[in-house]
Amino acid sequence: MEIIVNSHTHIGDAFITLDKKTWTVEELVAPPHGLKHEMMRKASEKEILEGMKKAISVMEKCGTTHFFDFREGGVGGIKILKKAMEGSKLNAVILGRPVELRYDSKEINEILKISDGIGLSSISDWDYEELKKVAAHVNKKKKMFAIHASEAFREDINAILDLKPSLLIHMSSASRDDLEIVADAGVPVAVCPRSNAFFGIRPDIESMLECGISLLLGTDNAMIAPPDIMQEMEYLLKNFDVSREQALAMITANPRKCLNVGLHIQQSDGKNR
Ligand SMILES: [Zn+2]
Repeated sequence: MEIIVNSHTHIGDAFITLDKKTWTVEELVAPPHGLKHEMMRKASEKEILEGMKKAISVMEKCGTTHFFDFREGGVGGIKILKKAMEGSKLNAVILGRPVELRYDSKEINEILKISDGIGLSSISDWDYEELKKVAAHVNKKKKMFAIHASEAFREDINAILDLKPSLLIHMSSASRDDLEIVADAGVPVAVCPRSNAFFGIRPDIESMLECGISLLLGTDNAMIAPPDIMQEMEYLLKNFDVSREQALAMITANPRKCLNVGLHIQQSDGKNR
């Protein structure tokens, strides 16, 4: 069947309305003190749930079949998403994360039992030794390990790739060399150009394509841009030197490979997971 995939969302923050126009990544989304995380700690489950339901309906309306959600809030956060998905035909690929920035083997096991893998903020937010333990645990369980990389500033790509990630998000402040290393490693990258633009960043999508990186497209934080992958694709076509064929591959054929890479992710069959 034809699939349409939004490869990077955080629909848990859809309930947040931003009261000013200019934010840095650090101020808004970096854990643990970014505004988003403060708001999510204060919010009731009902508020988060209602926001998620709205985001899910936006995705349904634009024909999305699958979305990869970076689900904050540990086991509890995943449970809210599952509740929000009740009655929806969308397939959520759930990438959970520990409540705190540290490795706890029991917590990771509990998260992996009810999700498709782990999706983390970035190596810069974590103690690298702790992060290595998380990545090794996830890889051993053959689940997905995804992480934001070089979003607002350049991070050490070799340290990131040593974690054996299945998917990187952004690479919007990476160097050309970094992009070539990622292409050689065969790790797909999900780009979110509207979210980057919100923070005044322009990802070098043209070079990513030139290097031969398998690119996916996502809408990132729902509080920044509605999770409408068709709008994201139109934005991409308007602002980057990308053909319609390349853009379509980013929401169909390329993510299909990720969905098929033995990550226990079933194809769309109308069932919620
Ligand atoms: Zn993100």
